Formats: sequence, C-alpha cells, structure tokens
Amino acid sequence: MNNKPIVVQKYGGSSLATPELIKRVAQNVVARKDEGVDLVVVVSAMGKTTDEFIKLAHTVNANPDKREMDMLLSVGERISISVLALAINAIGKYQAVSYTGSQIGLITDNNHTNARVLEVKGLRLREALQEDKIVVIAGFQGVSINKEITTLGRGGSDTTAVAVAAALQADSCEIMSDIDGIYTADPKRIPVARRIDRIHYDEALEMAAAGAKMLHKTSVEFAKRHHVPLSLGSTFTGQIGTIVTDENLSRGAASGVVIDRDVAVIRFSTRQEDGLKLPLLFSREKLFLKIWQCVQGLAIIGVSHSDISTAQRILEQTAQYLNVDERQAVLSLVGTGVSIGSEAARKFFTALDELQVTYSAVMNGELFVRVLIPLEGSDEIYAAIHKQFFEN
Ligand code: ASP
Ligand code: MG
Repeated sequence: MNNKPIVVQKYGGSSLATPELIKRVAQNVVARKDEGVDLVVVVSAMGKTTDEFIKLAHTVNANPDKREMDMLLSVGERISISVLALAINAIGKYQAVSYTGSQIGLITDNNHTNARVLEVKGLRLREALQEDKIVVIAGFQGVSINKEITTLGRGGSDTTAVAVAAALQADSCEIMSDIDGIYTADPKRIPVARRIDRIHYDEALEMAAAGAKMLHKTSVEFAKRHHVPLSLGSTFTGQIGTIVTDENLSRGAASGVVIDRDVAVIRFSTRQEDGLKLPLLFSREKLFLKIWQCVQGLAIIGVSHSDISTAQRILEQTAQYLNVDERQAVLSLVGTGVSIGSEAARKFFTALDELQVTYSAVMNGELFVRVLIPLEGSDEIYAAIHKQFFEN
C-alpha cells in the first residue's frame, strides 16, 4: 500500500435526496480526495427511499418476510452508489467505482433486517484504493454467513462506515450530514441547541441509545471497541463539528437532552414467576426495551412502534395482556455524572416537578436519567429541560 492517510466518509440520505445534492456531494468528495488521501465513501439511500420501500412492501403484504424485506431495502443504497459514482466520474478528475456490501465482503450474522457485522474482508476495496480510485460503498447492507443479503437496521449505514474504517485501520471516519455534529438537543427542534465539540464514546453511545438520530447506536459501540477515530461534519461545508473521543472529558455534568417519540407503551399484569421469565424472552427475541418498570405484578414496557407485534407475541405466552398506548415519549438527560443522586438529576427532577409533569416510569444508569411521559406536550417539556440545562 502507499502511505496516504485513509479516510472513510459517510453521507446520509438527506444529503443525497436529489440529483443536485448528489452532485454537491460529488464535489465534496473530490475536494476531500484533493487533500491527498485514500478515500472510501459510504452512502445511504436517497432521501426517504427506505421508508417508501417499507410502505410498498406493506401494501402487498401486511406481515412481510424479513428475507424479502432485506432484498428490497438493499436496493435503495444500490441506487445511490451508482449515481454518486457517475457524478464523481462526470467531474473527470478521479475514477470512482461502486460496490455493494456483499461485493466488499461485509459479512453479517443471519438476523435479517437487523443483522450484526461479523467481518469486512475488503479485498476488492483495497485493490481499488491501490489503483487510486474513490471507492463508493453501499451502506446498511451485507451478506450473511448463509449467503443471503441482509440489512443492518434503520440508520445502519453509519455502522457500515465504522466497520469499513476498522477493517482498513482508517485514519479518520467522518459521518457527514445536514447537521454538522452532535448537539445538546436536536437542532431541528431546538434551534438554540449548542454543538458539542468533543464527546466521549460512552456519552455518544448513551445519546444514540436514548433515541438521538445523529449516529446509529451500533456504530458507536463498534467505533469504541476498535478505536476508530470518529467524527461528524456538515455535508454542505465539509467542516467537522464534533469529534468522538475516548479522552476523559470528566465534565461531571449533563451533555445533552434527548427525546424519543417512537415509543409505544404496553401495560400488563403478570404473576411474579412469569414476570421473571420476561427479560430472558425479550433478549432471546432481540427486543430492545426503551424503558421498563414492574411494581407488584403491574408492568410497563416501552418499545419502538415497529416492535409492538413482537412484544405482544412474547407477552401472550405469559402475561395477562392489558393495553397498548402508542402515544408516549421517553425523555433522557445524558452526560458523565448524570445519575440519580447527582446534582444534575436533582435539577432534572426539580424542573419536571415545577413543570408539573406526571411521568409513569423512571430509568437510571451511570450516564443518564430517563422518564416516560405522554407524547402530547412532550415538545414543551423537552424545550424546557433544555433551557434549564443549556441556555442561560
Ligand atoms: N437507508 C437506511 C435507512 O433509511 C440506512 C441508513 O440510512 O443509514 O435506515
Ligand atoms: Mg442516519
């Protein structure tokens, strides 16, 4: 190999939504290549393509097979790799070549629609870099050990970028989107939110787990485990806004507030001995609980809307099923030293009290406190908590 720094850049769907935007990304890519690097570009599907494919599948089948869903959804990224490669080639300065996940040997487990990356072989990738080509890779997809096309879960292109960066031991993995970094809140909803220049992997992970959309949760876990130098930047300016690091930042304070609106709450009653089996059943089915609480046989779990049917299927085996409430939200305060008992938590619960918020469940970890609130009115609470912590 030559000694150029290796850079992996990932562009999200909203940065690629139209042909004009794709041309702009092509210009950015060429400008990054001009800096004398080996460049790999990972892309998502154009705009809302993936959502449209999901709708399409549901119009012909209410309960689509996961294998066929992967076959369909993986097409979105195939469109964007080829179109971006064409746009780069049209500039005429560098040669671009596009590859699917399976072509670069991105191997996953067999868990369709939510597969885990096991390995990136990357042989063709390295060959193309050696020929000084810009390599454009389809994010979000791979090939399973059973030789089937798989996808990595919604937002999974970030994970492709990090996995490719890890395999190449890249010098930089840059997640480019229309928001130039990680903020104290979603800047599209709270315009006064502040950008965080440096954030610890663990805090970024906790923010992603709390439902912030800036990074796919698995990508942060992967980056931390493989020491991938991860950063976030703006598609429009090419500037990096946030660096994710393992430096001990030890601020001992809140770093952000996150609201997750994709929450359905299932309330049910269960006998003690049956209730005890549920964590195992949920884990076996890979069901992610956003929040849960059980008090004297009465339990609450909060799941993503797309997981309602899985959750119901599990609960039917053991619990007396009560009801599903699809209009709930989970509000989290995240940061080093934000745990119940901390000064930040005191401030958080004081503010909720003053706002007269009735929350129906609480969760607490080393880096977060979290409450379950009704979706209605949650925007105001989100803004008020942000103001309390980050605006003065
Ligand atoms: N296109 C996929 C999605 O919409 C993957 C991604 O955007 O990262 O979830
Ligand atoms: Mg994304």
